[in-house]
Amino acid sequence: MAQLPEFLKSEGYVGGQWVAANSGNRLDVLDPATGETLVTVPRMGAVETTEAIAKAQAAFEGWSRRTAVDRATVLQAWAAAMRANAEDLARLLTLEQGKPLSESRVEIEYAASFFSWFAEEGRRLYGDIIPSHRTDARILVTRNALGVVGGITPWNFPSAMVTRKAAPALAAGNCMVLKPAEATPLSALAIAALGEQAGVPAGVFNVVTGGREEAPQIGKALIDSPLVRKIGFTGSTAVGKQLMRDCAGDLTKVSLELGGNAAFIVFDDADIEAALDGAQICKFRNAGQTCIAANRIFVQESIHDKFVEALCARAQDIEVGHGLEQNVSQGPLIDTRGLEKVERLVADATEKGATLHLGGQCHAAGGTYYQPTVMTGVTPAMDISHEEVFGPVAAITSFRDEQDAIEMANDTPYGLAGYFYSRDVGRIFRVADALKTGIVGVNTGLISTEVAPFGGVKESGIGREGSKYGIEDWTELKYICLAGLEAAS
Ligand code: ADP
Repeated sequence: MAQLPEFLKSEGYVGGQWVAANSGNRLDVLDPATGETLVTVPRMGAVETTEAIAKAQAAFEGWSRRTAVDRATVLQAWAAAMRANAEDLARLLTLEQGKPLSESRVEIEYAASFFSWFAEEGRRLYGDIIPSHRTDARILVTRNALGVVGGITPWNFPSAMVTRKAAPALAAGNCMVLKPAEATPLSALAIAALGEQAGVPAGVFNVVTGGREEAPQIGKALIDSPLVRKIGFTGSTAVGKQLMRDCAGDLTKVSLELGGNAAFIVFDDADIEAALDGAQICKFRNAGQTCIAANRIFVQESIHDKFVEALCARAQDIEVGHGLEQNVSQGPLIDTRGLEKVERLVADATEKGATLHLGGQCHAAGGTYYQPTVMTGVTPAMDISHEEVFGPVAAITSFRDEQDAIEMANDTPYGLAGYFYSRDVGRIFRVADALKTGIVGVNTGLISTEVAPFGGVKESGIGREGSKYGIEDWTELKYICLAGLEAAS
Protein backbone atom coordinates (compact mmCIF):
# COMPACT_ATOMS: atom_id res chain seq x y z
CA MET A 1 0.00 0.00 0.00
CA ALA A 2 1.24 3.48 -0.81
CA GLN A 3 2.07 5.76 2.10
CA LEU A 4 -1.02 7.54 3.36
CA PRO A 5 -1.20 11.12 4.60
CA GLU A 6 -1.30 11.62 8.35
CA PHE A 7 -4.71 13.12 8.72
CA LEU A 8 -6.49 10.45 6.74
CA LYS A 9 -9.87 9.69 8.28
CA SER A 10 -11.73 6.51 7.55
CA GLU A 11 -14.98 6.94 9.50
CA GLY A 12 -18.09 8.94 8.78
CA TYR A 13 -18.42 12.32 10.49
CA VAL A 14 -21.72 12.90 12.26
CA GLY A 15 -22.41 15.48 14.94
CA GLY A 16 -18.70 16.05 15.45
CA GLN A 17 -17.98 12.34 16.01
CA TRP A 18 -16.09 9.91 13.79
CA VAL A 19 -18.49 7.01 13.45
CA ALA A 20 -18.82 3.61 11.77
CA ALA A 21 -21.93 2.31 10.03
CA ASN A 22 -24.52 0.73 12.31
CA SER A 23 -24.18 -2.47 10.32
CA GLY A 24 -20.41 -2.42 10.66
CA ASN A 25 -20.17 -2.89 6.87
CA ARG A 26 -17.29 -1.24 5.09
CA LEU A 27 -16.48 -0.06 1.61
CA ASP A 28 -13.07 -0.38 -0.04
CA VAL A 29 -11.57 2.87 -1.28
CA LEU A 30 -9.22 2.04 -4.12
CA ASP A 31 -6.23 3.66 -5.71
CA PRO A 32 -7.56 3.72 -9.29
CA ALA A 33 -4.01 3.53 -10.61
CA THR A 34 -3.28 0.17 -9.02
CA GLY A 35 -6.64 -1.21 -7.94
CA GLU A 36 -5.22 -1.63 -4.44
CA THR A 37 -7.38 -0.87 -1.41
CA LEU A 38 -6.13 2.27 0.32
CA VAL A 39 -8.46 2.05 3.28
CA THR A 40 -12.09 1.20 4.04
CA VAL A 41 -14.90 3.57 5.04
CA PRO A 42 -18.35 2.86 6.52
CA ARG A 43 -21.24 1.80 4.35
CA MET A 44 -23.78 4.10 5.95
CA GLY A 45 -27.42 4.23 4.94
CA ALA A 46 -30.77 5.81 5.69
CA VAL A 47 -30.56 5.47 9.48
CA GLU A 48 -27.16 7.14 9.77
CA THR A 49 -28.27 9.85 7.35
CA THR A 50 -31.34 10.56 9.47
CA GLU A 51 -29.09 10.76 12.52
CA ALA A 52 -26.81 13.23 10.69
CA ILE A 53 -29.84 15.33 9.71
CA ALA A 54 -30.91 15.46 13.38
CA LYS A 55 -27.40 16.57 14.42
CA ALA A 56 -27.38 19.22 11.71
CA GLN A 57 -30.80 20.46 12.80
CA ALA A 58 -29.61 20.65 16.41
CA ALA A 59 -26.59 22.70 15.32
CA PHE A 60 -28.61 24.99 13.06
CA GLU A 61 -30.04 27.22 15.77
CA GLY A 62 -26.64 28.20 17.09
CA TRP A 63 -24.84 28.42 13.74
CA SER A 64 -27.49 30.45 11.94
CA ARG A 65 -27.75 32.93 14.82
CA ARG A 66 -24.06 33.70 14.79
CA THR A 67 -23.04 36.90 13.10
CA ALA A 68 -21.85 36.61 9.53
CA VAL A 69 -18.45 37.86 10.67
CA ASP A 70 -18.24 35.09 13.23
CA ARG A 71 -19.06 32.42 10.61
CA ALA A 72 -16.61 34.05 8.22
CA THR A 73 -13.83 33.76 10.79
CA VAL A 74 -14.42 30.01 11.05
CA LEU A 75 -14.53 29.58 7.26
CA GLN A 76 -11.33 31.60 6.84
CA ALA A 77 -9.65 29.36 9.42
CA TRP A 78 -10.90 26.33 7.43
CA ALA A 79 -9.38 27.75 4.24
CA ALA A 80 -6.12 28.39 6.08
CA ALA A 81 -6.08 24.83 7.44
CA MET A 82 -6.54 23.48 3.91
CA ARG A 83 -3.72 25.65 2.60
CA ALA A 84 -1.43 24.67 5.48
CA ASN A 85 -2.04 21.00 4.64
CA ALA A 86 -2.25 21.46 0.88
CA GLU A 87 0.48 19.00 -0.01
CA ASP A 88 -1.02 16.18 2.05
CA LEU A 89 -4.50 16.92 0.75
CA ALA A 90 -3.19 16.88 -2.82
CA ARG A 91 -1.47 13.53 -2.32
CA LEU A 92 -4.62 12.07 -0.80
CA LEU A 93 -6.66 13.36 -3.72
CA THR A 94 -4.28 11.81 -6.24
CA LEU A 95 -4.30 8.52 -4.36
CA GLU A 96 -8.06 8.11 -4.38
CA GLN A 97 -8.85 9.84 -7.68
CA GLY A 98 -5.82 9.28 -9.87
CA LYS A 99 -5.16 12.75 -11.29
CA PRO A 100 -1.56 13.95 -11.47
CA LEU A 101 -0.25 15.56 -8.30
CA SER A 102 0.23 18.89 -10.10
CA GLU A 103 -3.49 18.96 -10.90
CA SER A 104 -4.41 17.93 -7.36
CA ARG A 105 -2.43 20.86 -5.99
CA VAL A 106 -4.42 23.20 -8.22
CA GLU A 107 -7.67 21.60 -7.10
CA ILE A 108 -6.81 21.98 -3.41
CA GLU A 109 -6.15 25.68 -3.83
CA TYR A 110 -9.37 25.99 -5.87
CA ALA A 111 -11.25 24.13 -3.12
CA ALA A 112 -9.81 26.33 -0.35
CA SER A 113 -10.68 29.44 -2.36
CA PHE A 114 -14.40 28.73 -1.93
CA PHE A 115 -14.07 29.01 1.85
CA SER A 116 -12.16 32.28 1.52
CA TRP A 117 -14.56 33.70 -1.04
CA PHE A 118 -17.82 32.72 0.62
CA ALA A 119 -16.57 33.77 4.05
CA GLU A 120 -16.59 37.25 2.53
CA GLU A 121 -19.79 36.84 0.50
CA GLY A 122 -21.61 35.70 3.65
CA ARG A 123 -20.94 39.14 5.06
CA ARG A 124 -22.60 40.74 2.05
CA LEU A 125 -25.93 38.95 2.03
CA TYR A 126 -27.67 42.28 1.86
CA GLY A 127 -31.40 42.68 1.90
CA ASP A 128 -33.57 45.47 0.53
CA ILE A 129 -35.87 48.18 1.74
CA ILE A 130 -38.48 48.61 -0.96
CA PRO A 131 -40.49 51.82 -1.44
CA SER A 132 -43.73 50.97 0.28
CA HIS A 133 -47.22 50.68 -1.14
CA ARG A 134 -48.64 52.20 2.07
CA THR A 135 -47.82 55.37 3.94
CA ASP A 136 -47.92 53.57 7.28
CA ALA A 137 -45.68 50.66 6.30
CA ARG A 138 -42.15 49.79 5.37
CA ILE A 139 -41.18 46.79 3.26
CA LEU A 140 -38.05 44.95 4.37
CA VAL A 141 -36.52 42.01 2.52
CA THR A 142 -33.94 39.78 4.16
CA ARG A 143 -31.99 36.76 2.94
CA ASN A 144 -32.13 33.86 5.36
CA ALA A 145 -30.58 30.45 5.76
CA LEU A 146 -32.69 27.51 4.61
CA GLY A 147 -31.94 25.14 7.50
CA VAL A 148 -30.41 21.72 6.99
CA VAL A 149 -29.16 21.15 3.46
CA GLY A 150 -27.79 18.13 1.64
CA GLY A 151 -24.78 17.96 -0.65
CA ILE A 152 -24.13 15.07 -3.05
CA THR A 153 -20.82 15.22 -4.87
CA PRO A 154 -18.96 13.38 -7.65
CA TRP A 155 -15.52 11.79 -7.83
CA ASN A 156 -13.88 13.90 -10.55
CA PHE A 157 -13.19 16.88 -8.25
CA PRO A 158 -13.41 15.26 -4.81
CA SER A 159 -12.36 18.40 -2.90
CA ALA A 160 -13.60 21.33 -4.95
CA MET A 161 -17.12 20.01 -5.43
CA VAL A 162 -17.44 19.63 -1.66
CA THR A 163 -16.28 23.13 -0.79
CA ARG A 164 -18.15 24.75 -3.68
CA LYS A 165 -21.32 23.61 -1.89
CA ALA A 166 -20.34 23.61 1.76
CA ALA A 167 -18.75 27.07 1.75
CA PRO A 168 -21.76 29.07 0.50
CA ALA A 169 -24.18 26.88 2.43
CA LEU A 170 -22.41 27.36 5.74
CA ALA A 171 -21.56 31.02 5.11
CA ALA A 172 -25.29 31.70 4.76
CA GLY A 173 -25.97 29.93 8.07
CA ASN A 174 -27.11 26.49 6.90
CA CYS A 175 -25.87 23.17 8.28
CA MET A 176 -24.92 20.43 5.82
CA VAL A 177 -25.07 16.68 5.47
CA LEU A 178 -22.70 15.70 2.69
CA LYS A 179 -22.60 12.46 0.76
CA PRO A 180 -19.34 12.26 -1.16
CA ALA A 181 -18.89 9.97 -4.15
CA GLU A 182 -18.28 6.34 -3.28
CA ALA A 183 -14.94 6.32 -5.13
CA THR A 184 -13.51 9.39 -3.38
CA PRO A 185 -14.75 9.87 0.19
CA LEU A 186 -11.30 10.50 1.69
CA SER A 187 -10.89 14.07 0.50
CA ALA A 188 -14.29 14.97 1.96
CA LEU A 189 -13.41 13.33 5.29
CA ALA A 190 -10.06 15.14 5.37
CA ILE A 191 -11.87 18.43 4.76
CA ALA A 192 -14.21 17.60 7.65
CA ALA A 193 -11.21 16.87 9.89
CA LEU A 194 -9.65 20.22 9.01
CA GLY A 195 -12.99 21.91 9.66
CA GLU A 196 -12.99 20.40 13.12
CA GLN A 197 -9.51 21.85 13.70
CA ALA A 198 -10.67 25.21 12.36
CA GLY A 199 -13.51 25.42 14.87
CA VAL A 200 -16.54 24.32 12.85
CA PRO A 201 -19.04 23.40 15.58
CA ALA A 202 -20.27 19.81 15.87
CA GLY A 203 -23.21 19.08 13.55
CA VAL A 204 -22.64 22.02 11.23
CA PHE A 205 -20.90 19.85 8.63
CA ASN A 206 -21.50 16.10 8.51
CA VAL A 207 -20.21 13.46 6.12
CA VAL A 208 -22.12 10.25 5.44
CA THR A 209 -20.15 7.71 3.40
CA GLY A 210 -21.51 4.76 1.46
CA GLY A 211 -21.18 2.70 -1.67
CA ARG A 212 -23.07 2.75 -4.94
CA GLU A 213 -25.67 0.46 -3.32
CA GLU A 214 -26.29 2.84 -0.42
CA ALA A 215 -26.39 6.06 -2.49
CA PRO A 216 -30.13 5.89 -3.29
CA GLN A 217 -31.00 5.24 0.39
CA ILE A 218 -28.85 8.14 1.54
CA GLY A 219 -30.31 10.39 -1.16
CA LYS A 220 -33.85 9.37 -0.29
CA ALA A 221 -33.34 9.90 3.45
CA LEU A 222 -32.09 13.41 2.71
CA ILE A 223 -34.86 14.28 0.29
CA ASP A 224 -37.70 12.75 2.28
CA SER A 225 -36.74 14.47 5.51
CA PRO A 226 -38.90 17.53 6.10
CA LEU A 227 -35.90 19.11 7.82
CA VAL A 228 -33.75 19.11 4.67
CA ARG A 229 -34.65 22.17 2.64
CA LYS A 230 -32.23 21.90 -0.26
CA ILE A 231 -30.15 19.38 -2.15
CA GLY A 232 -27.08 20.61 -4.00
CA PHE A 233 -25.97 17.93 -6.44
CA THR A 234 -23.15 17.54 -8.94
CA GLY A 235 -23.19 14.39 -11.05
CA SER A 236 -24.87 12.71 -13.97
CA THR A 237 -27.95 14.08 -15.67
CA ALA A 238 -29.84 10.82 -15.09
CA VAL A 239 -29.34 10.90 -11.32
CA GLY A 240 -29.93 14.66 -11.20
CA LYS A 241 -33.30 14.28 -12.90
CA GLN A 242 -34.27 11.51 -10.51
CA LEU A 243 -33.33 13.62 -7.50
CA MET A 244 -35.35 16.55 -8.83
CA ARG A 245 -38.39 14.32 -9.31
CA ASP A 246 -37.97 13.02 -5.76
CA CYS A 247 -37.60 16.55 -4.41
CA ALA A 248 -41.06 17.39 -5.73
CA GLY A 249 -42.50 15.36 -2.83
CA ASP A 250 -42.10 18.09 -0.23
CA LEU A 251 -40.73 20.77 -2.58
CA THR A 252 -37.14 20.53 -1.46
CA LYS A 253 -35.09 23.10 -3.38
CA VAL A 254 -32.48 21.71 -5.76
CA SER A 255 -29.44 22.98 -7.54
CA LEU A 256 -27.99 20.65 -10.12
CA GLU A 257 -24.63 20.66 -11.87
CA LEU A 258 -25.06 17.92 -14.44
CA GLY A 259 -23.47 16.58 -17.58
CA GLY A 260 -22.08 18.66 -20.40
CA ASN A 261 -21.19 18.22 -24.05
CA ALA A 262 -18.90 21.16 -24.56
CA ALA A 263 -18.07 22.38 -28.02
CA PHE A 264 -14.58 23.76 -28.57
CA ILE A 265 -14.54 25.82 -31.78
CA VAL A 266 -11.38 27.02 -33.51
CA PHE A 267 -11.98 29.66 -36.19
CA ASP A 268 -9.42 30.28 -38.89
CA ASP A 269 -8.65 33.74 -37.52
CA ALA A 270 -7.63 32.28 -34.15
CA ASP A 271 -4.20 32.35 -32.57
CA ILE A 272 -3.55 28.67 -33.30
CA GLU A 273 -0.92 28.17 -30.62
CA ALA A 274 -3.28 29.60 -28.02
CA ALA A 275 -6.07 27.35 -29.31
CA LEU A 276 -3.79 24.33 -29.03
CA ASP A 277 -2.87 25.27 -25.46
CA GLY A 278 -6.56 25.61 -24.66
CA ALA A 279 -7.56 22.38 -26.38
CA GLN A 280 -4.84 20.46 -24.61
CA ILE A 281 -5.84 21.60 -21.15
CA CYS A 282 -9.56 21.57 -21.81
CA LYS A 283 -9.48 18.08 -23.30
CA PHE A 284 -6.74 16.21 -21.45
CA ARG A 285 -6.85 17.72 -17.94
CA ASN A 286 -7.99 15.09 -15.41
CA ALA A 287 -7.72 12.54 -18.26
CA GLY A 288 -10.74 14.23 -19.83
CA GLN A 289 -12.93 13.49 -16.82
CA THR A 290 -14.52 16.90 -16.37
CA CYS A 291 -18.05 18.01 -17.19
CA ILE A 292 -16.63 21.10 -18.91
CA ALA A 293 -14.12 19.12 -21.01
CA ALA A 294 -14.07 19.74 -24.77
CA ASN A 295 -16.27 16.85 -25.85
CA ARG A 296 -16.56 17.99 -29.46
CA ILE A 297 -13.79 19.96 -31.14
CA PHE A 298 -14.81 21.90 -34.26
CA VAL A 299 -12.00 23.25 -36.44
CA GLN A 300 -12.50 25.45 -39.50
CA GLU A 301 -11.66 23.64 -42.76
CA SER A 302 -8.70 25.77 -43.81
CA ILE A 303 -6.73 25.15 -40.60
CA HIS A 304 -8.05 21.67 -39.78
CA ASP A 305 -5.10 19.54 -40.90
CA LYS A 306 -2.50 21.81 -39.36
CA PHE A 307 -4.42 21.90 -36.06
CA VAL A 308 -4.86 18.12 -35.94
CA GLU A 309 -1.19 17.50 -36.61
CA ALA A 310 -0.12 19.94 -33.89
CA LEU A 311 -2.61 18.55 -31.37
CA CYS A 312 -1.33 15.03 -32.03
CA ALA A 313 2.23 16.19 -31.41
CA ARG A 314 1.20 17.63 -28.06
CA ALA A 315 -0.93 14.63 -27.08
CA GLN A 316 1.95 12.32 -27.92
CA ASP A 317 4.05 14.06 -25.27
CA ILE A 318 1.54 13.36 -22.51
CA GLU A 319 3.18 11.20 -19.88
CA VAL A 320 0.75 8.54 -18.67
CA GLY A 321 1.26 6.93 -15.27
CA HIS A 322 0.57 6.99 -11.54
CA GLY A 323 -0.33 10.53 -10.54
CA LEU A 324 2.23 10.60 -7.75
CA GLU A 325 5.10 9.96 -10.14
CA GLN A 326 7.07 12.94 -11.30
CA ASN A 327 6.33 14.35 -14.75
CA VAL A 328 3.14 12.33 -15.15
CA SER A 329 0.49 14.46 -16.83
CA GLN A 330 -2.27 11.89 -17.22
CA GLY A 331 -3.43 9.37 -14.65
CA PRO A 332 -5.82 6.43 -14.94
CA LEU A 333 -9.55 6.64 -15.52
CA ILE A 334 -11.56 6.33 -12.33
CA ASP A 335 -12.77 2.74 -12.85
CA THR A 336 -13.50 0.02 -15.38
CA ARG A 337 -16.99 1.42 -15.95
CA GLY A 338 -15.35 4.65 -17.13
CA LEU A 339 -12.84 2.78 -19.26
CA GLU A 340 -15.54 0.69 -20.92
CA LYS A 341 -17.47 3.81 -21.82
CA VAL A 342 -14.44 5.33 -23.54
CA GLU A 343 -13.77 2.08 -25.40
CA ARG A 344 -17.39 1.85 -26.51
CA LEU A 345 -17.51 5.44 -27.79
CA VAL A 346 -14.21 5.18 -29.67
CA ALA A 347 -15.25 1.85 -31.23
CA ASP A 348 -18.62 3.28 -32.28
CA ALA A 349 -16.96 6.34 -33.84
CA THR A 350 -14.37 4.38 -35.79
CA GLU A 351 -16.96 1.87 -36.99
CA LYS A 352 -19.00 4.79 -38.29
CA GLY A 353 -16.05 6.27 -40.18
CA ALA A 354 -13.98 8.42 -37.82
CA THR A 355 -10.23 8.39 -38.48
CA LEU A 356 -7.83 7.70 -35.64
CA HIS A 357 -4.68 9.83 -35.71
CA LEU A 358 -3.35 8.91 -32.29
CA GLY A 359 -4.16 6.37 -29.60
CA GLY A 360 -7.55 4.74 -29.62
CA GLN A 361 -6.70 1.91 -27.24
CA CYS A 362 -6.13 1.01 -23.64
CA HIS A 363 -2.68 2.09 -22.54
CA ALA A 364 0.12 -0.44 -22.19
CA ALA A 365 0.34 0.50 -18.49
CA GLY A 366 -2.78 -1.64 -18.03
CA GLY A 367 -5.50 -1.10 -15.42
CA THR A 368 -7.80 1.73 -16.39
CA TYR A 369 -5.18 3.75 -18.25
CA TYR A 370 -6.22 4.91 -21.72
CA GLN A 371 -4.05 6.31 -24.49
CA PRO A 372 -4.29 10.02 -25.29
CA THR A 373 -6.39 9.85 -28.45
CA VAL A 374 -7.08 12.15 -31.37
CA MET A 375 -9.65 11.36 -34.06
CA THR A 376 -11.20 13.29 -36.91
CA GLY A 377 -14.23 13.01 -39.14
CA VAL A 378 -16.58 12.84 -36.16
CA THR A 379 -20.23 13.23 -37.16
CA PRO A 380 -23.55 13.57 -35.32
CA ALA A 381 -24.27 9.94 -36.22
CA MET A 382 -21.62 8.89 -33.70
CA ASP A 383 -22.49 8.42 -30.04
CA ILE A 384 -19.47 10.49 -28.96
CA SER A 385 -21.23 13.56 -30.40
CA HIS A 386 -24.01 13.12 -27.87
CA GLU A 387 -22.46 11.47 -24.82
CA GLU A 388 -19.74 12.78 -22.56
CA VAL A 389 -16.71 10.63 -23.28
CA PHE A 390 -15.09 11.43 -19.91
CA GLY A 391 -11.74 10.25 -21.23
CA PRO A 392 -8.65 11.56 -23.05
CA VAL A 393 -10.24 11.45 -26.49
CA ALA A 394 -10.19 14.50 -28.77
CA ALA A 395 -13.12 14.11 -31.19
CA ILE A 396 -12.63 16.54 -34.07
CA THR A 397 -15.02 17.72 -36.80
CA SER A 398 -14.26 20.30 -39.48
CA PHE A 399 -16.69 23.10 -40.31
CA ARG A 400 -17.25 25.57 -43.12
CA ASP A 401 -18.34 28.84 -41.56
CA GLU A 402 -19.52 30.54 -38.40
CA GLN A 403 -23.17 29.57 -38.81
CA ASP A 404 -22.22 25.97 -39.41
CA ALA A 405 -20.12 25.92 -36.23
CA ILE A 406 -22.82 27.52 -34.07
CA GLU A 407 -25.48 25.11 -35.30
CA MET A 408 -23.33 22.07 -34.60
CA ALA A 409 -22.25 23.40 -31.20
CA ASN A 410 -25.86 23.95 -30.11
CA ASP A 411 -27.07 20.61 -31.45
CA THR A 412 -27.22 18.98 -28.01
CA PRO A 413 -29.64 18.89 -25.09
CA TYR A 414 -26.75 19.96 -22.84
CA GLY A 415 -25.55 23.48 -22.19
CA LEU A 416 -22.82 23.70 -19.58
CA ALA A 417 -19.66 25.16 -21.16
CA GLY A 418 -18.70 26.16 -24.69
CA TYR A 419 -15.38 27.48 -25.97
CA PHE A 420 -14.14 29.24 -29.07
CA TYR A 421 -11.01 30.86 -30.38
CA SER A 422 -11.15 33.94 -32.57
CA ARG A 423 -9.50 37.34 -32.80
CA ASP A 424 -12.35 39.06 -34.60
CA VAL A 425 -14.17 41.24 -32.09
CA GLY A 426 -17.48 41.14 -33.97
CA ARG A 427 -17.37 37.36 -34.16
CA ILE A 428 -16.46 37.11 -30.50
CA PHE A 429 -19.65 38.88 -29.46
CA ARG A 430 -21.81 37.08 -32.05
CA VAL A 431 -20.66 33.61 -31.12
CA ALA A 432 -20.60 34.24 -27.36
CA ASP A 433 -24.23 35.38 -27.65
CA ALA A 434 -25.23 32.45 -29.86
CA LEU A 435 -23.82 29.60 -27.79
CA LYS A 436 -26.58 28.11 -25.65
CA THR A 437 -24.45 27.39 -22.59
CA GLY A 438 -24.15 28.72 -19.06
CA ILE A 439 -20.41 29.31 -19.49
CA VAL A 440 -18.46 30.53 -22.52
CA GLY A 441 -14.67 30.48 -22.72
CA VAL A 442 -13.35 32.84 -25.39
CA ASN A 443 -9.70 32.29 -26.23
CA THR A 444 -9.27 30.14 -23.14
CA GLY A 445 -9.86 26.54 -22.18
CA LEU A 446 -9.83 27.20 -18.45
CA ILE A 447 -12.83 28.96 -17.01
CA SER A 448 -13.16 27.72 -13.41
CA THR A 449 -12.73 30.28 -10.66
CA GLU A 450 -14.50 30.87 -7.38
CA VAL A 451 -15.37 34.43 -8.39
CA ALA A 452 -17.53 33.49 -11.42
CA PRO A 453 -20.90 31.71 -11.64
CA PHE A 454 -20.50 28.08 -12.70
CA GLY A 455 -23.53 26.25 -14.04
CA GLY A 456 -25.47 25.18 -17.06
CA VAL A 457 -28.63 25.67 -19.06
CA LYS A 458 -30.91 23.08 -20.69
CA GLU A 459 -30.22 19.58 -19.36
CA SER A 460 -26.91 20.61 -17.81
CA GLY A 461 -28.59 21.84 -14.69
CA ILE A 462 -30.22 24.45 -12.56
CA GLY A 463 -28.55 27.06 -10.38
CA ARG A 464 -25.06 28.48 -10.15
CA GLU A 465 -22.12 27.75 -7.87
CA GLY A 466 -19.32 30.16 -7.01
CA SER A 467 -19.45 33.97 -7.27
CA LYS A 468 -21.84 36.36 -5.57
CA TYR A 469 -24.71 34.49 -7.24
CA GLY A 470 -23.66 31.14 -5.80
CA ILE A 471 -24.66 31.99 -2.25
CA GLU A 472 -28.17 33.11 -3.19
CA ASP A 473 -29.16 29.55 -4.03
CA TRP A 474 -28.49 28.59 -0.39
CA THR A 475 -30.87 31.21 1.00
CA GLU A 476 -34.48 32.23 0.77
CA LEU A 477 -36.00 35.66 0.83
CA LYS A 478 -38.24 36.88 3.59
CA TYR A 479 -40.47 39.89 3.05
CA ILE A 480 -41.42 41.71 6.21
CA CYS A 481 -44.28 44.17 5.97
CA LEU A 482 -43.76 46.52 8.87
CA ALA A 483 -47.03 48.38 9.28
CA GLY A 484 -48.67 50.55 11.91
CA LEU A 485 -46.14 53.33 11.41
CA GLU A 486 -48.67 56.13 11.61
CA ALA A 487 -47.46 59.61 10.80
CA ALA A 488 -47.01 61.88 13.83
CA SER A 489 -50.05 64.15 14.16
P1 ADP B 1 -21.11 9.18 -11.99
O1 ADP B 1 -21.79 8.33 -13.02
O2 ADP B 1 -20.14 10.15 -12.54
O3 ADP B 1 -20.58 8.43 -10.81
P2 ADP B 1 -23.47 9.84 -10.54
O4 ADP B 1 -24.52 10.85 -10.87
O5 ADP B 1 -23.86 8.43 -10.62
O6 ADP B 1 -22.24 10.16 -11.46
O7 ADP B 1 -22.90 10.11 -9.09
C1 ADP B 1 -22.71 11.38 -8.52
C2 ADP B 1 -23.04 11.32 -7.05
O8 ADP B 1 -24.41 10.95 -6.91
C3 ADP B 1 -22.25 10.28 -6.27
O9 ADP B 1 -22.00 10.78 -4.96
C4 ADP B 1 -23.19 9.11 -6.22
O10 ADP B 1 -22.99 8.25 -5.12
C5 ADP B 1 -24.51 9.82 -6.06
N1 ADP B 1 -25.69 9.05 -6.45
C6 ADP B 1 -25.80 8.13 -7.44
N2 ADP B 1 -27.06 7.65 -7.49
C7 ADP B 1 -27.77 8.29 -6.51
C8 ADP B 1 -29.12 8.24 -6.06
N3 ADP B 1 -30.03 7.46 -6.62
N4 ADP B 1 -29.46 9.05 -5.03
C9 ADP B 1 -28.56 9.86 -4.45
N5 ADP B 1 -27.29 9.96 -4.84
C10 ADP B 1 -26.88 9.19 -5.85
